[in-house]
Amino acid sequence: MAKTNPFKSRTSNLGMGEVVMKTVAREIKIEGVVQGVGFRPFVFRLAAEYGILGWVLNSSEGVTIWAEAPEDTVLAFYNACVSRPPKLAIIVGHRIMEREVQGFDHFFIKHSEAGDRRDVMISPDVAVCEDCYQDITDKQNRRYRYPFTNCTNCGPRFTIIMDIPYDRIKTTMRDFPMCPVCAHEFEDPMNRRFHAVPNACPDCGPQVTLSDLDGNIYPGLGHEFLRSGRILAVKGLGGFHLICDARCREAVANLRRRKIREFKPFAVMCRDLQVVEQYCHLSPEEAALLETPAHPIVILDRRRQDDLPPDLAPGISTLGVMLPYTPLHHLLFEYGLEILVATSANISDDPLIIDNEEALVKLKGIADYFLMHNRQIYNRCDDSVTTVVDGETQVMRRARGYVPLPIPWDARSENQPLTSHVSILGCGGELKGAFCLTKGKDAFMSQHLGDLNHYGNYQQFLYTIPRFETMLDVKPEVIAYDLHPDYMATRWAKSQSGRTLIGVQHHHAHMASCLAENLTTGPALGVVCDGTGYGTDGAIWGFEFFAGTPARLERMAHLAYMPLPGEITIKHPGRMSLTYLYEHFGAPGLRRGHKHLPTMGDEEQQVLVRQLENRFNTVPTSSCGRLFDAASALLGICTRVQYEGQAAIEMETVADPGVRDRYEYELNCHSRPYRLGTRGIFEGILGDLERGTPTGVSAGRFHRTVAAMIEDVLLRLREETGLGTVTLSGGVFANKLLFRLLRQKLAEAGFQVLYHRKVPTNDGGVSLGQVYIASEVIREHVPGHTIQNLEH
Ligand SMILES: [Zn+2]
Ligand SMILES: [Zn+2]
Repeated sequence: MAKTNPFKSRTSNLGMGEVVMKTVAREIKIEGVVQGVGFRPFVFRLAAEYGILGWVLNSSEGVTIWAEAPEDTVLAFYNACVSRPPKLAIIVGHRIMEREVQGFDHFFIKHSEAGDRRDVMISPDVAVCEDCYQDITDKQNRRYRYPFTNCTNCGPRFTIIMDIPYDRIKTTMRDFPMCPVCAHEFEDPMNRRFHAVPNACPDCGPQVTLSDLDGNIYPGLGHEFLRSGRILAVKGLGGFHLICDARCREAVANLRRRKIREFKPFAVMCRDLQVVEQYCHLSPEEAALLETPAHPIVILDRRRQDDLPPDLAPGISTLGVMLPYTPLHHLLFEYGLEILVATSANISDDPLIIDNEEALVKLKGIADYFLMHNRQIYNRCDDSVTTVVDGETQVMRRARGYVPLPIPWDARSENQPLTSHVSILGCGGELKGAFCLTKGKDAFMSQHLGDLNHYGNYQQFLYTIPRFETMLDVKPEVIAYDLHPDYMATRWAKSQSGRTLIGVQHHHAHMASCLAENLTTGPALGVVCDGTGYGTDGAIWGFEFFAGTPARLERMAHLAYMPLPGEITIKHPGRMSLTYLYEHFGAPGLRRGHKHLPTMGDEEQQVLVRQLENRFNTVPTSSCGRLFDAASALLGICTRVQYEGQAAIEMETVADPGVRDRYEYELNCHSRPYRLGTRGIFEGILGDLERGTPTGVSAGRFHRTVAAMIEDVLLRLREETGLGTVTLSGGVFANKLLFRLLRQKLAEAGFQVLYHRKVPTNDGGVSLGQVYIASEVIREHVPGHTIQNLEH
């Protein structure tokens, strides 16, 4: 692109035979994540490059630019602004408008007025950038080894923001007035740290201290303690980690014992990609995901022969891996330390610890030393968890690095706007709490909040909602909630007065969440496979087929009900095996399966049988999770569950993917909803056990059977409804083996298959579906719903 000097074109050389290019004025508006990401200095530099006169301003909609130059030049400049923005900018819209030339004689960054920036999106936290990494590793740099180095392209954002607009005074960096050198960087448009709100240096910024429980202070960052197998509590970006050398058997065993976390896998942090590759298989997509600005945990397949302690991730063949994302993390990888356990520092599923005092009290007896700093964490935020399936990223736990980026959800907004764009709050589920707040065409999901049945997590739910309302400057008029009467979020929703309440069935919300993420209104078919969800008939649903649009979903088929003998069964899957055997085959079935019903004495079996006979304290369930539990325990794979989905994950781990055959099952189509029977599956498993079939073969057959059941039902439903689009949602689809098998089968059968990528497929994603259904119920005035208190 030729650079034009606008002075020349405007003023000079008249009458000397040259063509004079007429100066025009244009106003350019750019919306999206464009503040706090170096957008104005970027525009400033481009303006200099193209010879543009005018200004750039952070406005309520994003960034506004006034550009004066010949028209071709302005258009080229506009094109450059939107086509190669700074790395962290996310442009969601832009336009250019004709204006009267005002005759500016330079280009400048206009000061924005506070209170005028309410619509601006807030950036998530960003992993340390290449340039800042250079700074901290350069002995000559004044930020050499400074753990809080950041710039416009990286550093803390969401975790330090207390209010908007995003200015230092509204963040936890307000405690650290900038020194003159930092202040100069902050004011210089040509500097990488121009308007970098958390800008800091060793002279003016936060500091770390290393101490023990008695308050003794030690020099350094604790490398020698890590090397000698000690456990450090390290304050990071969104909370504390417990950190130890992942290669040290004793340290890992101690951590597991002290954290009373017998089976749940620990995540690790590796120095760099080379170290990751020593331990895990790494595709180009996985490597790229590890290095994205979000720096999430990526679930990777471990190499078979590694020298890592078995305690790291017992019973599974994957490892949750992340790369260092703050300068402090980078500095830990010295003196030969290459791979560290970095597990969230919390006690028995309570919220992540973020406070120094709290860490010293609660981590006593777990951590040996404390590496803490004096910058407050305002918004608690766990590490995000992701995986790559066939080259595509799927987010399993959405938190640091992604929140609070919006999710476009409103498929209708282009030509058919929602009714008045009311703000809706979806409260989410229970086990993987996360709410969703809408503002216009964007849905803002909260960070993962944990199991809301825990007091601390519920408290976090209660104070995070108003924080999001403040940050987004919205007050939801509508609240959508799960129908489960005992969910904490549901109870909270029902206690809110003066708002419209809309109850949404759990699996409807799953399917709608998948439609929303894929910007589809339906009608579509949907299959939802998960552990627990309250059904409209009071049963516990979890293997469900629907057809319709978000506001009008019909239950077309489900797994035949089985009695669930008490909540305790979820932790003891052997009870579910017995239930399936007894319900299908009676006492003879129990005798056949007797020696395979582990962790259960004769007496316990008898008590359970009586319970089933009398239907005492049992609830009918069609849960897919419980079906996996029953098969997994009967095959002896997992007999005691300590984290959600454990039995299914361990079964996937041992399953032989090369198996081609499957078990039988029954499909009862006499009346709607159709019912899928499992007698053939358990007949098959008993036969395999009697023949001594390898467990991996049986597990493989089981996976194939579930995929075949789903395909069978969907083919029938397509024939009856004419619908060829199908959504896959629910926690069970985190099972890659099942997901892949099914997606392939359905694609071969000509279905358009929709699934989750940005939003978790598990209960962490239901709040998006809740708001989608609520908005559609309101928009369509669906009969049978009243605006006062709706149950969908
Ligand atoms: Zn940086
Ligand atoms: Zn400074």
